Amino acid sequence: MTSHSAQPRFAPDGAAFDVIVIGAGIGGLVTATQLITQGFSVLLLEKYLIPGGSAGAFEREGYRFDVGASMIFGCGQRGTTNLLTRALAAVGQSLETVPDPVQIHYHLPDGLMLKVHRDYEKFLVELTERFPHEAAGIRAFYDECWRVFNCLNRIELLSLEELRYVARVFFQQPLACLGLARRLPLTVGAIAKRYLTDPQLLKFIDMECYCWSAVPADRTPLINAGMVFSDRHYGGVRYPQGGVGRIAEALAEGFVQAGGQLQYRSHVSQILTERGRAIGVKLATGQRYWGQRIVSNATRWDTFDRLLTERPLPAAERRWRRRYQLAPSFISLHLGIEASALPTGTHCHHVVLEDWSQLAAAGGTLLVSIPTQLDPSLAPASRHIVHAFTPSWLSAWQDLTPAQYAAKKAEAAEQIIQRLDRVFPGLAAGVRYRSVGTPRTHRRFLGRTAGTYGPIPRPGLPGLLFMPFNRTALRQLYCVGDSTFPGQGLNAVAFSGFACAHRVAADLSR
Ligand SMILES: Cc1cc2nc3c(=O)[nH]c(=O)nc-3n(C[C@H](O)[C@H](O)[C@H](O)COP(=O)(O)OP(=O)(O)OC[C@H]3O[C@@H](n4cnc5c(N)ncnc54)[C@H](O)[C@@H]3O)c2cc1C
Repeated sequence: MTSHSAQPRFAPDGAAFDVIVIGAGIGGLVTATQLITQGFSVLLLEKYLIPGGSAGAFEREGYRFDVGASMIFGCGQRGTTNLLTRALAAVGQSLETVPDPVQIHYHLPDGLMLKVHRDYEKFLVELTERFPHEAAGIRAFYDECWRVFNCLNRIELLSLEELRYVARVFFQQPLACLGLARRLPLTVGAIAKRYLTDPQLLKFIDMECYCWSAVPADRTPLINAGMVFSDRHYGGVRYPQGGVGRIAEALAEGFVQAGGQLQYRSHVSQILTERGRAIGVKLATGQRYWGQRIVSNATRWDTFDRLLTERPLPAAERRWRRRYQLAPSFISLHLGIEASALPTGTHCHHVVLEDWSQLAAAGGTLLVSIPTQLDPSLAPASRHIVHAFTPSWLSAWQDLTPAQYAAKKAEAAEQIIQRLDRVFPGLAAGVRYRSVGTPRTHRRFLGRTAGTYGPIPRPGLPGLLFMPFNRTALRQLYCVGDSTFPGQGLNAVAFSGFACAHRVAADLSR
């Protein structure tokens, strides 16, 4: 493996690399794999024992649970937006995936039960049956999302901070680029209200957004919705055989096979700086490493508040914090249940809400995944795994004694089980294993401020216009992952990883 660039000027007490990546979440892994295949020397430091972060997995009593994500986009075989497939292929990896025939089965107030079928027309028919007076508007709204997707799916998705790339893509696909630029400041809410008027249907569109963006339609960027609302019918939602953790494991394997250096149990406690530039990292053990470029896959809050404590917060970060706020964390309940407790034909992903006014409230929307519906190997014979999670704020879980904390967890778990039992009668009696995670768990194991799901735009922000790219105000320091363009979700942070690697490679090759 040859290196593109000279070693750093000095490396007093540690090894020197072209690039050091802090964190092996999907954002960090995609950056690291993209850079290693371009011949750079890369050190990837992960504080935990396994890769994946929010897309990791854990095993208990014969069950293999997903830490977080389980509705996976970007694993298709066509177009340019299948970024997980592409990231894996770049390091010689591929995964078997199981196509999900229904993205979500909604169980909503006023008896609004709906399935988002993989087949676009089938979905539109089902939705239109509920809202026949909105037939034309429904098609117009979702077709507008397709127009966004078709623009994205025509261009190579790399760094919008790299002007030569932007010029090249514009020259190759001028209409697609103009189509995207025009829609960058738009939110889903604005488009939905252009085509739809029924208040209940608009609430449904709010939920279509909230269940992945953590904000209702009027705060969800249209670009992101164009991806989600269309790719589910194009590349499709697919579940990786062996669990979502396989994606990160395969990327990590490919990275090491390509010559990358990956260290687990390596908690970065400080980003080292010199004359206004990032030049290395220090681990909690005191070990230092030197790199020409430093990439942080920790959130922007964690990067600037915890790893750069000796420096004042840059003005650009202060501005960003005025525009974006922390999304809540979750109470996550992982269950092992008797397979007989679920009716035959139950789908993998469900969204449950009993009262529209609680859509964005703590403990309101309940998101449910049953991945063993697609891959039974994740549980012992005749069992299913269920992951049910609902928003929760760290503040509700602080200042508790250990006994109070345990009791509150048990109470939260019981409430979720009772809600599940109303959707799947008999489920409560079939529970054989349970494990509860709180915002404290998310904060501790994922290293994310307040255990947050990520940044959410404050009201009134124009679409994706102000979401930062990968470069930061500190020279030679880059951020990657869900607090960079285009935001949360595995395929989105893979996009961020491709963009970050592209920008770093361009900077190192100057
Ligand atoms: C409950 C839940 C459900 C979700 N469901 C879905 C879904 O169905 N579909 C979907 O697409 N997305 C889903 N998401 C969102 C998706 O999982 C995330 O947006 C994405 O995984 C974030 O990736 P990331 O690389 O930005 O960060 P992370 O996953 O947070 O990874 C960051 C990594 O950096 C490491 N790290 C942090 N600080 C340090 C440090 N100082 N030193 C060393 N290492 C460090 C962490 O340990 C972690 O491994 C879900 C998220 C959650 C929490």
